[in-house]
Amino acid sequence: MKQLTLSTSSALADGSRRLSQSSPSPHTYLDNRVTKSQRENKRTRSQRARARLQTKQHLVGLARGLHEGELADKLERCHSRLSVLTCGRHIARIIPNFTCEFRLCPDCGRRRSRKLQNKYLPAMRGFMLHHKVTPVHLVLTQTHRKENRKQSAKRIKDSLTRLQRRGFWKEYFKGGTWSLEFTKDKNGLHHTHLHIIGFRRKFFDIELLRGEWLAATGDSHVLHLKQIQDIAAGLREVVKYVSKPLDIRRFGADDLKEFLGLKNMRMFGTFGEFRDFCKDFEPSDNDADGSDLESFSRDLVEGCACPQCNEPLFDLRMSAKELPQFYEQTESSPPGKVGTSWN
Ligand SMILES: [Zn+2]
Ligand SMILES: [Zn+2]
Repeated sequence: MKQLTLSTSSALADGSRRLSQSSPSPHTYLDNRVTKSQRENKRTRSQRARARLQTKQHLVGLARGLHEGELADKLERCHSRLSVLTCGRHIARIIPNFTCEFRLCPDCGRRRSRKLQNKYLPAMRGFMLHHKVTPVHLVLTQTHRKENRKQSAKRIKDSLTRLQRRGFWKEYFKGGTWSLEFTKDKNGLHHTHLHIIGFRRKFFDIELLRGEWLAATGDSHVLHLKQIQDIAAGLREVVKYVSKPLDIRRFGADDLKEFLGLKNMRMFGTFGEFRDFCKDFEPSDNDADGSDLESFSRDLVEGCACPQCNEPLFDLRMSAKELPQFYEQTESSPPGKVGTSWN
């Protein structure tokens, strides 16, 4: 399969070869991405909250520069005032004054990511119980071409559609989810990847899949496949790209402008039998477990016991700018010592 001659026009093939010489190969990308996500996981909550503030300020600045005043105002208002339910040592729940729902907003992205996890995790567990399937994380890549983000996304999604129509795919995959990840290299080329959680019916040789992907794309056999041991962690990994589609801190005005043009593009979806399963799936009590913190904490109000230490919760009002410092205090303080200065 690897010897397959490329049927795409030679001009295009030459162009992409020339471009890819100066940009990192998809293999490098796959290696870097793993270390990057490990690095991110090591950051403390206060560091992450501070990074979200900076990202937001950067976005607001870009929006103002593009005369997108309404967007800038919404972003500034979103999560600017917070009601924090805390025992002093732990934060049980944060209720924002307003959510902008803008796709690149880091605060709304976190909410969206939690919502997706709460919606799909029970369905995934149910699906795996009902069918004899193994979850795998599949990353599909394509060659780099000079094209805009929209064209790049359309190209890889069309390739996925072609792959899914093939007999091989139907034989080995019962369904799953897909999500899009966008990155851009220093030469300004878009690298669009598809992250798939696939429910595999039976084992296959990865070389077969590479050949199938080459047939679907016409010019790329580069992919990465690993079995998922913990479905909750696997899902968390792929929804990350939906909640944080890009490295926004390196965003320029042109990037934001381009992104605003993508308004209705879907970044996450389900396919195959899993899609139908999700439509009918009603989680039962048995499907819920301790990891579903969101639905659990939704019921918490002032006076309830802290889920982590049983001390009573109280309601602290603060601005978004004060949150990182409060996280810092909870990260470093001895029991019961925090709080008074925040009232
Ligand atoms: Zn927002
Ligand atoms: Zn507590």
